[in-house]
Amino acid sequence: MSEADWTQAEDPADFAGDPDGMERLWTPHRMVYIRGEGKPEDPGDAQQCPFCAAPARSDEDALIVHRGRSAFVILNLFPYNSGHLLVCPYRHVADYTELTDEEVAEVAALTRTAMRVVRDVSAPAGFNLGMNQGDIAGAGIAAHLHQHVVPRWKGDANFLPIIARTKALPILLATTREQFAAAWPSGAGEEG
Ligand SMILES: [Zn+2]
Repeated sequence: MSEADWTQAEDPADFAGDPDGMERLWTPHRMVYIRGEGKPEDPGDAQQCPFCAAPARSDEDALIVHRGRSAFVILNLFPYNSGHLLVCPYRHVADYTELTDEEVAEVAALTRTAMRVVRDVSAPAGFNLGMNQGDIAGAGIAAHLHQHVVPRWKGDANFLPIIARTKALPILLATTREQFAAAWPSGAGEEG
């Protein structure tokens, strides 16, 4: 792969993610910053929802790691850390209480499998799991529920986010998606 292939900047609006206003420094790109933009103007409009749009695209384009029956697993375009995954129901619902029993079970099962896959691929020391419910609670895309699966390593909370609101991310998203998709066990995670 030539140097030019590594320095291509892509429009964040083309991907699904949960923006948090933090800028990312993609170390393989060195000079390329991707801003936390791409939030829909009207959060209630499913047409503008990146989590509704993602499943219609290819796994590679949308950074989807796995597609279940009622929910799917996607890389967060605005990761807190390398390998930050989101587990989303296909349905455009905001609140955890609105999920069907099947969706609750599958989001839980996919979360568990996501942890196993991330452990296999990148051996984190721990995880943060959770759902932000509503703008006030920190949800970037509050209208479409998503469960965060954030791998943690010793020393990953370094000084960069504090002084510069910038995090260094050592692996490109496309590479991470390939590794996770390849490690995802066939038939796993959809039990509900
Ligand atoms: Zn949606």
